Amino acid sequence: MMEKENVRKEIQAIDDMLSDLFEKRIILSKKEKDLIEKERFVLTTEKEIKDSDVSLIKKQFANQLDDLSKAFVKRTNDINDLFLNNSADFSVYKDSVFELRTLAKKAIDEGNSDVINATIGTLFDENKKIAIIDTVYDCYNAVNNSVKASYAKSITGNEDFNEAIFNWINQNNNISLYHKTVAAPGGTGALALAFNNFLNSNETVLLPQTSWGSYKVIAKDANLKCEFYKLTDENNNVDLQDLFLKALKIIRQQRKLFVVINDPCQNPTGISLGSENWKLMIKVFNKISESGPVIIVNDVAYIDYCYNDGYDYFKTFNEANENIMFNVTYSCSKAFTAYGMRVGANIILSKNRQAVDNAYNAFSRTCRSLWSNINHGFMEAVVKILNENKEKYLNEKQQLINLLKARSEIFLNKAKEVDLPLYPYTEGFFATIKIEDDNVLNKFHNNLIAKHIFAVKFDKGIRISLCAISKEEAEKLPELLKETLEASK
Ligand code: PLP
Repeated sequence: MMEKENVRKEIQAIDDMLSDLFEKRIILSKKEKDLIEKERFVLTTEKEIKDSDVSLIKKQFANQLDDLSKAFVKRTNDINDLFLNNSADFSVYKDSVFELRTLAKKAIDEGNSDVINATIGTLFDENKKIAIIDTVYDCYNAVNNSVKASYAKSITGNEDFNEAIFNWINQNNNISLYHKTVAAPGGTGALALAFNNFLNSNETVLLPQTSWGSYKVIAKDANLKCEFYKLTDENNNVDLQDLFLKALKIIRQQRKLFVVINDPCQNPTGISLGSENWKLMIKVFNKISESGPVIIVNDVAYIDYCYNDGYDYFKTFNEANENIMFNVTYSCSKAFTAYGMRVGANIILSKNRQAVDNAYNAFSRTCRSLWSNINHGFMEAVVKILNENKEKYLNEKQQLINLLKARSEIFLNKAKEVDLPLYPYTEGFFATIKIEDDNVLNKFHNNLIAKHIFAVKFDKGIRISLCAISKEEAEKLPELLKETLEASK
């Protein structure tokens, strides 16, 4: 009831603002018309008017412009906070994942037995408990308290951690570019380093259309605009044409391209592009980079849950020319079942050594100013895991991959049986129902909530967190989804 009233109040406030703006627009367009007429008068009668008249008309223009500016300033002040700077967005921040998770919890607490919570991006076991790799926490617990308590050895991360992470990314020994690694608080921190250092205010980042919502938040916070590319064509096949077209459009306009490619195991579609697509991308980006530098942010948050070798495609990076820089943004959250530890890294790669050094130095300052340094104890644990306990860790992680794979197979088979339209899922934590029509999408989402099925709404899709549902739920969910989707059309 309270929520309904609040929504009504928000609508009322928007209506008031709209009518206010509309009124102002009418006044302004009348003034604009007057100004144009006066301007015409000046031009046509120019020869006949005396200098004194010209100064009078100019004064009148100046007065009118003053009025317009005052109206503009007043309007701007209306939407500005007294204390915050002009770029601060102080509308209430709503994180859809966390909000839906709360709704799902409420529905469970109210005693509903039919609740399916497919919202969260954390891997759960079949008993709905967070999946934990014991080796990780054995290694963490073996770290001295004095290390856990102390600052990291360097602003950009401990040297042995950075080296271990680069070696992990380069586990196929297939990267021959210059590299430097900067530790960051999670994949989010690694992304923030990139978003805050390459573009100027009001320039544009290129993001996947159906993608992790935080990219937009990070971009906006860095005063950047967003453009979007589709990853699939009208036949629902993976297709890079839209990416290339948008990339070309942007580089022609701003002479620099900053593009995010969340691969493999894209959140939310589960698409993995594979080495062949990457080869093509590098070829095209080499061509595009003739018009300006290209920064490719490759977000690999889920790379360690590929069903096959997820590290092969890095070999294609070696073909990139000197005008291309990669930022591989790595997250320890999923790979080490350590979401709360807030550890990750940005691995800077390029043929251009000077550019790698410059980016590293710029990133160091961003680290210092935003978070200073990161979780020392967990960096130590990661080094212990990767250097001394790798086999044990890999065996345990493989169990989790097997669980995810089993769930995804059950879900995909059933989805196919009931003809549920999914994006072309390859692997990973999520699969997504493809819905182009926004009205159907909204209705479908609401109807799902009414049925106690909680899943996050994305642009052109509803994400199902395979990582968070049981095999039993994976079996019954597609039919429920299909039924609800049909009823929402
Ligand atoms: N990138 C994607 C696509 C994600 O889904 C996430 C987490 O959900 C991240 C990056 C960063 O995660 P974290 O900051 O927890 O390492």
